[in-house]
Order: sequence, then C-alpha cells, then structure tokens
Amino acid sequence: MHRQKMTYALKDGELIDISSVDRGLKCGCVCPSCNQPLIAKKGEKMVQHFAHKSTDECEYGYETSLHLLAKEIISKSKKFTIPSVYVEFHSYKEKEYISQSKEITVDRIELEKSFGGIIPDIVIYCGEKKFFVEIFVTHKIDEEKLNKIKSAGISTIEIDLSKMDREITDNELSEMLLKDSKEKRWIYNAVSEYYQKQFLRYAEKIPTVEHGLATHSSYCPIGQRVWRGKTYANVMDDCIYCPFCISYEEDEESDEPYTYYLLCTGKSGISSIDDIKNMRNREKNKY
Ligand code: SF4
Ligand SMILES: [Zn+2]
Repeated sequence: MHRQKMTYALKDGELIDISSVDRGLKCGCVCPSCNQPLIAKKGEKMVQHFAHKSTDECEYGYETSLHLLAKEIISKSKKFTIPSVYVEFHSYKEKEYISQSKEITVDRIELEKSFGGIIPDIVIYCGEKKFFVEIFVTHKIDEEKLNKIKSAGISTIEIDLSKMDREITDNELSEMLLKDSKEKRWIYNAVSEYYQKQFLRYAEKIPTVEHGLATHSSYCPIGQRVWRGKTYANVMDDCIYCPFCISYEEDEESDEPYTYYLLCTGKSGISSIDDIKNMRNREKNKY
C-alpha cells in the first residue's frame, strides 16, 4: 500500500509547507506526531516531502499533519460545510431529509482532546453545539470508538481520504472542508438517530404470509385490500410503494426460515418528519 508522505511539518510550533523550508536537516522541522527531527527531501525526481531523520517513518505523521492543516484552514476561514442530515429506511421508502448540506460559522476548533475516553481528531464548536470530525487515511474509526460516540450522543463526520493514493494538497483539503464533498459523511448524527427512533416508536411489526406466488401482510391498518372482512396488503404491489413502510426484512427472531415482516407506521399515520413533529406537538398539548 502506498503510504502518503508528509508535505507539512512543524517548525517552532507552527505548521509549515515543505516549499518554504531549506533542504535537508537545515529545515529545522519536527514531525507533528512523534516530535522527531525531519529532513526536507527536495530533490527533482520525487514529490518534495519530509522524512524522519531516523530511518523509521512513524505511523501517524501524515495524518497528524492533516489534522493540523485542517485546523489551520478552518480557523482561517471560520467556515465548515456539514453534509445533509437524513433518515434512511430498510425499505424502498425514500430518505427523509432533516436538513440539506450547509455552511456553518465555526467559533472554535480543537485537536485530539479527550472527551470521556473518546479522542476525536478534530472538535468543531458552533455556538452551543459541537461535533467531531474524523479524518480517515489509514486508520478507520473502530467499532468501540463509534459505540462510545453514539453513547455520548455527539454527532461525528468522517472525511474519507483512504482512496487517495497520493498526498492531498491544501487546496484539495480546503475544498473538502469548506464545500460539500463526497468524501464527507455523517457516521453518526444525533438528530437523525432521534428521528430514526421516533419512526420505530410509531411503527408496528406486521408478519407477512405467503399466498401462492404472492406475499401478503397479515393485516393492513389503512385497509389497502379486504378479504372476508379482514384487511391485508400485497407486499410487492402495495407495501413496497407505501409511505408507511419503513422496513421490510427477514425476521431473525423467527424459528422458521425465510420469514419476513414489515415495520409499518400506517396505524399512527406517520410517514414523514413533519408528521412526527406534529404528533409530538399534539402529545405535548395533551397534558
Ligand atoms: S405498509 Fe402500507 S400497505 Fe403495507 S400494511 Fe402497512 S399501511 Fe398497509
Ligand atoms: Zn513521526
């Protein structure tokens, strides 16, 4: 695997680009991760880069230099663009958007600070709110860290640079941070999680049954079809396109193989985020 080389390093505590330093050890730079002296390799053939004076290249040098560069870019512009927030379903139902991708004003930014055992790469503060940003080059966020993030309820964005097989330039990184980009996504969003749970709260589990070649829901709260006084729906013809179908999946709790069920919000009439908000208001006003 190609390992990206450091093109930014620390000199007297400041992040500096290789083009602005002297060649060799005279550069006076240290690695932002291990603090060891660096040599500025400024030959003609290869991309100019920093190498550790000792033969060992450290594991986190490049990533740490990117964190510092990201901090510098965001601190200078005081801007950051967050990706759109939505709820996705385990069915054909279209995503429900909570907000579109938007530019926010950043008040403060911190690097690698500990939050109850979680050390995010970057923390961005915006008014009363904060969120984490993880830059993924070679070390993807692991299950344990993600679970801790979820229990802390702190929304987290990942910027995935793992497919980039060369050093990223400051212009490219600026573009990714300050504009909406495909490399950036929420790996956990507290608002999306909240609405996901609300949809589940208003849903009921409806088993499906095989009828010849068709699959039917064992009951349909909106009375899509009626047979001998009992309601039902044809899963492929009705439920798949129904705005109340939030999930259609295999029932892992069932002893029988190939048993499927629907999660249907038809009874509560909830098919959108707006419906949830209205329902919440109605519930509040009841008491
Ligand atoms: S998903 Fe729609 S059609 Fe299917 S059972 Fe529920 S309400 Fe009826
Ligand atoms: Zn190092």
